[in-house]
Amino acid sequence: MALIVQKYGGSSVADAEKIRSVARRVAASAEGNQLVVVVSAMGRTTDQLVELSAQISPSPDPRELDMLLATGEQVTIALLAMALHALGRKARSLTGPQVGLKTDGAHGKARITEINAERVRQALDADAIAVVAGFQGLSDADEITTLGRGGSDLTAVALAAALKADVCEIYTDVDGVYTADPNVVPEARKLPRVAYDEMLEMASLGAKVLQSRSVEFAKKYGVAVHVRSTFKPDAGTLVTKEERQMEEVVVTAVTHDRSQAKVSILRVPDRPGLAAQVFGAIAANNIVVDMIVQNISRDGYTDMSFTVPRGDHARAVTALEAVAKKVGADGVAHDERIAKVSIVGVGMRSHSGVAVRMFAALAQEGINIQMISTSEIAISCVIEDKYAELAVRALHDTFDVGRGRA
Ligand code: ASP
Ligand code: MG
Repeated sequence: MALIVQKYGGSSVADAEKIRSVARRVAASAEGNQLVVVVSAMGRTTDQLVELSAQISPSPDPRELDMLLATGEQVTIALLAMALHALGRKARSLTGPQVGLKTDGAHGKARITEINAERVRQALDADAIAVVAGFQGLSDADEITTLGRGGSDLTAVALAAALKADVCEIYTDVDGVYTADPNVVPEARKLPRVAYDEMLEMASLGAKVLQSRSVEFAKKYGVAVHVRSTFKPDAGTLVTKEERQMEEVVVTAVTHDRSQAKVSILRVPDRPGLAAQVFGAIAANNIVVDMIVQNISRDGYTDMSFTVPRGDHARAVTALEAVAKKVGADGVAHDERIAKVSIVGVGMRSHSGVAVRMFAALAQEGINIQMISTSEIAISCVIEDKYAELAVRALHDTFDVGRGRA
């Protein structure tokens, strides 16, 4: 008998019919196994609740916003438990606070501090399926908190770790992790396995399959996470610890991100403390900076460029214009028509010349590189947005991405 944690995302439980069909799948998995099911809010419920709160207040109190958002998951657990009862199965719905999911007090992005899962064990001991609300917990001050958008993934992984489950299955509307977006690259392959670090890079580079914090947590506690489709029976992708054999494949995935904008401050006096002033102004506006490039200094002046989320770029420009004036820079430029294309793979650690091959592949298509950044297992280039898909296809082809990954 195995102990299985399954998580179903919002699109998998979007209406009553879908909830009934999830119940059938859960019931079948519970045959001869102990089962814990974590669910998200139905469909776009969380977005709708956020929109609703915005109609009441432009800046709702974070405590009240969490109180509101946590209701979404509570609807799903009750309905799924009822659907399981209708199939003649024992099932018990439980909220985050009821399963002892303790967090810090950071509303909207709370961190898990402890899970005792006592009520889950009691349900399992009573031969019932435990149906747990994702995304929510209770702070030390007994306040309801949420774990950040997509946080049900984290609830599932954390419960799997606490219960020492045999596997954590994340059911979603895609059937696994691909070597590239199949809408852009028809030859993209589904990867049987990816290393935690690759998955983390892919998430931060624009491929959203699992919430990043859930992957960090899975890595820390060694939870194997199986990403698979709610609507198809096929095996999906196992996100797991790195194995030596994974390094034989140089590039595991090509990602692209069209959600950023480039901002530059021009002819900044080149002296100590200026970068701190520039980025201090950006940080003071709570804008997250991704890539940064500073040109070599000429006659005591330099240009600095960086990328920010597109939605924040107007605020970044305003903040930067004020700094430019103060420090005597020439001005500010910005460009929204950029895209970031990246290659990812643990194999980069042991293969050389990877960057050169990437740059050559882009050059061959006549694509100019505006910015470059690297990590141990990823290389990213900012290019003109209109070339994004061409670049992804060219890179996928050049590296025969994912080939040989078992
Ligand atoms: N319902 C929450 C959200 O939409 C949590 C989740 O779906 O994982 O972000
Ligand atoms: Mg999700």
